[in-house]
Amino acid sequence: MKQFDLIALGGGSGGLSAVEWAAQYYGKRCAVIESGALGGTCVNVGCVPKKVMWFAAEHARHLRLAADFGFEAHGGGHDWGALVRRRNEYIGGLTRWYDGRLAELGVTRIRGAGRLVGPGVVEVGGERYQAGHIVIATGGRPLVLPVEGAELGVTSDGFFGLRERPGRVCVVGGGYIGVELAGVLHGLGAQVCVAMRSYEEDFMPPFDDGVREVLFRQMQADGIRFGFGGAIGGLERRDGALALRWADGEAETLTGFDCVIWAVGRAPNTDGLGLETAGVAVDERGFIGVDEYQNTNVAGIYAVGDVTGRAALTPVAIAAARRLVERLFGGDDKRRLDYTMIPSVVFSHPPIGAVGMTEREARAGGKAVQVYQSRFAPMAYALSERKVETMVKLVCVGAEERIVGCHIIGDGADEMLQGFAVAIKMGATKVDFDNTVAIHPTSAEELVTLRGGA
Ligand code: FAD
Repeated sequence: MKQFDLIALGGGSGGLSAVEWAAQYYGKRCAVIESGALGGTCVNVGCVPKKVMWFAAEHARHLRLAADFGFEAHGGGHDWGALVRRRNEYIGGLTRWYDGRLAELGVTRIRGAGRLVGPGVVEVGGERYQAGHIVIATGGRPLVLPVEGAELGVTSDGFFGLRERPGRVCVVGGGYIGVELAGVLHGLGAQVCVAMRSYEEDFMPPFDDGVREVLFRQMQADGIRFGFGGAIGGLERRDGALALRWADGEAETLTGFDCVIWAVGRAPNTDGLGLETAGVAVDERGFIGVDEYQNTNVAGIYAVGDVTGRAALTPVAIAAARRLVERLFGGDDKRRLDYTMIPSVVFSHPPIGAVGMTEREARAGGKAVQVYQSRFAPMAYALSERKVETMVKLVCVGAEERIVGCHIIGDGADEMLQGFAVAIKMGATKVDFDNTVAIHPTSAEELVTLRGGA
């Protein structure tokens, strides 16, 4: 049986980071087991291809705006097939880079699906491998609703496989993935309908109410349709097109689609991992339970990333894996990831950047809350008839007005948030923001010139 210091089960953001860190900084013998393509969800069917598609949709928007600045430009004539080919070439390059990087670091790559078969032992295709430390980083997969005809739809994985742009699309689900895919498809010329149970339940629920409202209005103004009808009954073919039936027969069927995309959540990849054999506990949804140090209930077995069900974002998986390795091999037994104040971005049109508590969460907390906000049309639209609104909002608590939440929707929000997140994580107050000189003329300056809290 081959021996290692650390084995990562899953070669996505979390698993690759664990082996890379352990091999590079601590000279450990590592192996990574991956059943698909290196890079996992983020590189192959998540952040990276999604952001490429988002850029494409943004280019289409900028081409339309360019006419207001005197250019003879229009947004027509887009070649979806060419975009997808170039995107896939780019991703192919990234996965090849990972292969080279692992070889350079002396990390063993094991191809196939791994499963735990005993204390510190993993089996892949009949071969067994042993390590003192096993990091489970098998991520998650998209869900489809268990309804009749569900197989007629595709998931976000299927979206990235589309070789042609569908003309009429229904996206089921109003979470960030649904909103992002709807925005890309609409931006590149498809007619898009977003279907969900209700606005309150399903439209971007974890985000601040103000941000949700601005996004919802903008998507409608852009021409994206919304269908709310309670629980979904099923999918079917009607007159050569796809139709979505609500469980409540009274609600009007949404029909006439070439493509239906399920964006209704994700499940952890824990089936067939041998967790029961190894005695690793999972919660009722199958996520692996970990303590604040990423320890499972079994000594020597850890879990990081989406499979733990906590803050399912690439930088979170990476940071958790690196800190775990630093704790295991770096002699700092208190090293761990602080899961508070994690900034996140939604690549909608316009994008959202958010960190910390929403206004609603802060008001439920019992302390005195002051909210400062501003809504405006950025200068980028000064010459245009159609304006896209920006909203910035700071949520402050206590007499010292410590900033506990920052919520931005508008062009540039995705790049704006990171620096503010540093200050907020460090405990910045409203006065600290006020004492910072503005950068003019920008949208970001609004965050340091907010007045009149309520
Ligand atoms: P993954 O990256 O999913 O890696 C798990 C790997 O384990 C996979 O490669 C899988 O093949 C492998 N595996 C599973 N079972 C086994 C087994 N038994 N044996 C061997 N290998 C196995 N996050 C962001 O931060 N920003 C974004 O903009 C963003 N956009 C996203 C867009 C979409 C459409 C999706 C779906 C996700 C997005 N995410 C984004 C989330 C991000 O992709 C995940 O949080 C991140 O990939 C989690 O990393 P992970 O290592 O936990 O799992």
